[in-house]
Amino acid sequence: MAVFICPSCAHRVSGAERAEGHQPRGCPKCRFGFVFELMDDYYAGPITALIACDRERRVLVAGHSSAPVTGWPDGEMIGHEVSAALGLAFPGATDDPIARSLEWGVRVQQQPCTFRPHGLDEDRDAVVDIFPAYDDDGGLLLALTPVTKG
Ligand SMILES: [Zn+2]
Repeated sequence: MAVFICPSCAHRVSGAERAEGHQPRGCPKCRFGFVFELMDDYYAGPITALIACDRERRVLVAGHSSAPVTGWPDGEMIGHEVSAALGLAFPGATDDPIARSLEWGVRVQQQPCTFRPHGLDEDRDAVVDIFPAYDDDGGLLLALTPVTKG
């Protein structure tokens, strides 16, 4: 059963709830305009930044925890190419996981990466989950979770 996640507040809505039709498109919790369909359930942690992009990798929504994690003020990341905006790098990866997800429509799970918060000149370690969109518009949802070295 598909699950839907709100890019803005990370609230999850089950396909069954949605089928009841109370909220045909948006998030029942924060009223954000759309929710993103996931094939597998996923819980965003409190410091997981949720960022939705179009098929050209441009940021559509910098939602849940995006501002504190990425350093981009609310709304300002919109329209930027997501890898560049986040300074994403995938050490050790043999390809670009974002391109892989977009091209093949596959989920990328817990991919180690580094990113550079906006306005800082130091990279941070993180893991990224990438969820391809299943509607005709394409695109993806990126969930970026910083990790602290212990
Ligand atoms: Zn919401």
